[in-house]
Amino acid sequence: MLNKLKRLPVPFKEVLKIASKEAASLGFKIYLVGGVARDLILGKTIFDLDIVVEGDAALLALKLSKHFGASFRKHHAFGTAVVTLNKHKIDFATSRNEHYPHWGALPKVNPTGLREDLFRRDFTINAMAIGLNKNDYGKLIDFYGGVSDLKKGVIKVLHEKSFLEDPTRLLRAVRFAQRFSFKLDKDTALLMKEALSLEALTFVHHHRLIDELVLILKEAKPAAYIKKLYKLTELSFIDKKMKLEDTDFTFFKRVERTLAFYKKSFKKDKKDKKVEGWLLYLSGIMIRYSLEEIVDFFRKFSLKKGDMIRVFAVKENIGRIKQLNKDIKPHIIYRLLNPLSLESILFFYAYYTQRKIRANIECYLKELIYVHLKVKGQDLKKMEIKPYEIYSQLLQQLLYAKIDKGFTTKAQELEEVKRIFKRLSSKNR
Ligand code: ATP
Repeated sequence: MLNKLKRLPVPFKEVLKIASKEAASLGFKIYLVGGVARDLILGKTIFDLDIVVEGDAALLALKLSKHFGASFRKHHAFGTAVVTLNKHKIDFATSRNEHYPHWGALPKVNPTGLREDLFRRDFTINAMAIGLNKNDYGKLIDFYGGVSDLKKGVIKVLHEKSFLEDPTRLLRAVRFAQRFSFKLDKDTALLMKEALSLEALTFVHHHRLIDELVLILKEAKPAAYIKKLYKLTELSFIDKKMKLEDTDFTFFKRVERTLAFYKKSFKKDKKDKKVEGWLLYLSGIMIRYSLEEIVDFFRKFSLKKGDMIRVFAVKENIGRIKQLNKDIKPHIIYRLLNPLSLESILFFYAYYTQRKIRANIECYLKELIYVHLKVKGQDLKKMEIKPYEIYSQLLQQLLYAKIDKGFTTKAQELEEVKRIFKRLSSKNR
């Protein structure tokens, strides 16, 4: 493992070296754990670090944040802390065991050694650690057969009450199995069935389930995950009446292709904003819901209002977008699509298979989205155009004219302003 640590990007190596030194000076032992250990073994790129401390995690994190001048946040309830360094998160947690007051509850935690800390984890492949101390720097610690399960390609829980104690692990099992194309270990599959037959998902607070669902929707290609999860749970933890059909799963595949196509062909995002691809899948899951049901869903799961507005917009505009299925002036395309979020626009691209609709959306994303006026309100003032109240209408019409006629110079725009102003004045007379 030492070689793998050596291959980490320089800033990470520096963090680990300093963390190791600081921990030693405090008399603590520290380890890289969980998904980071797993991904290092698999040779995957690491974005964030997860460090378990036999000692006071928050104190070590604070020292490290001071050393690097990085931001520091402490979570009092769990004895954890996060240091954020150049957009990378470094999580610190005191090694702990967990005790569940009842199935599905949040666990009560007590500090212990590393072995027990690893035992409370979800699957063997996520229960490995890498030593970061003088005597074990880079050494793999694998008490529960994680490496062997990684090699075999199996997802295996650490004990038989695992799914019952924390049923979110049912969703996590689907996520990791699909991501790595692994199988469920035989006993784990039986335990999963048993937990589902006991309706384990109803024991957990729905916020925790939705968090795991969102993680699934944020995976690179979630269509197969959704299908698997639906097969197992019918997504009844979202809604008992949830009904997905073959057409929905085909649609999710089309969303995957749409997002890939968008990434490849339209590098510059509108307003430099990242597309929240997961919202397209969520919109697809919710498309048969009424507007009221969508509001109820977002309230129940305390999801962000901004996300709800985007799902809402999909529902509200789904009929209107059919207007794109004919030859229309570019400014009509613009009027239809410009008020929508990129997520909604891409949803419609995936949803409608008609060539014309798709070509019109592509035209918007390739060209129209970038059209801006050179003429501003100041120019109208200089031209002594009055009253000021008509400026926004005038500029809007100018923009539509520019889109249709393809003006390239400010002079062309100024000429057009005069024409539009004349037209508006004669109309208002
Ligand atoms: P990803 O690669 O998606 O980030 P990860 O394995 O890093 O996955 P996280 O959700 O970031 O997963 O959690 C970090 C680690 O914490 C996991 O690897 C696992 O060891 C442990 N863990 C997370 N959630 C649970 C859970 N519900 N039950 C037990 N252990 C968990």
